[in-house]
Amino acid sequence: MDTFFTQKLCDRCGGSLKGGRIMSMYNTECICLTCKDKESKRDDYDEAVKADHEEIKKENYNYKGIKGQ
Ligand SMILES: [Zn+2]
Repeated sequence: MDTFFTQKLCDRCGGSLKGGRIMSMYNTECICLTCKDKESKRDDYDEAVKADHEEIKKENYNYKGIKGQ
């Protein structure tokens, strides 16, 4: 998270983050919007979003995503 707003390249594809950046739903990677778009089409994306929301409800803001633990 430290480099989230300062890094210039996508953690996943290595592409530029000029077009925007967002955190992955699966882990703490900072990814570009193209990767986010691909991620949101994954079969288990809904599950990842739900898991994330469950952790927020439990006030576990340090949750690293279903694949990032
Ligand atoms: Zn990317």
